[in-house]
Amino acid sequence: MQTFGPTMNYCSSCGAVVSREIPQGDNRLRFVCAGCDEIHYHNPNIVVGCVPSWEGQVLLCRRAIEPRVGFWTMPAGYLEIGESTEEGAARESEEEAGVVVEIGNLLSLVSIPQIGQVHMIYLGKLNSAEFLAGEESLEVKFFSENDIPWDDLAFPTVKLTLEHFFADRSRGEFTLHSEVLRRPETANNKQ
Ligand SMILES: [Zn+2]
Repeated sequence: MQTFGPTMNYCSSCGAVVSREIPQGDNRLRFVCAGCDEIHYHNPNIVVGCVPSWEGQVLLCRRAIEPRVGFWTMPAGYLEIGESTEEGAARESEEEAGVVVEIGNLLSLVSIPQIGQVHMIYLGKLNSAEFLAGEESLEVKFFSENDIPWDDLAFPTVKLTLEHFFADRSRGEFTLHSEVLRRPETANNKQ
């Protein structure tokens, strides 16, 4: 039985002590409250983002926050309740890079089972070259394919997605790339 995921000591509904057990009709360990009987399910998080492009260049952000401070990523972050994945990707772009982006097709769909995350990165079209580094970015910058800081990218998803972006672009057709990362080797791999 896998044991990753958030731990829980007390019920978030009533404050009583929770225990790990397999509820009736289930086949996995869950945190179950002894006080109110609530079963607390913990499921994977969805990370949404996009590759904003402008006249052949892509916009990347240098992270100002942990994990991976100082490394480069496309704008991306956790999907919030109440928004679509496209809306989330556009919001992250505005927050981190100060751009209004037109979200296009899904470019990469990356499952990372060990850390319980699913990453969805879209194509993003910019209508101007203006940007502004948000609070979570040290710096925001346009890169052409030859200038991408491949050794200073923040996460495996960033590298995979940019590789797909440039390969698809040179082929003249963007398609969806669905992948599973079984062994992430980044600071994001907190168990
Ligand atoms: Zn409870």
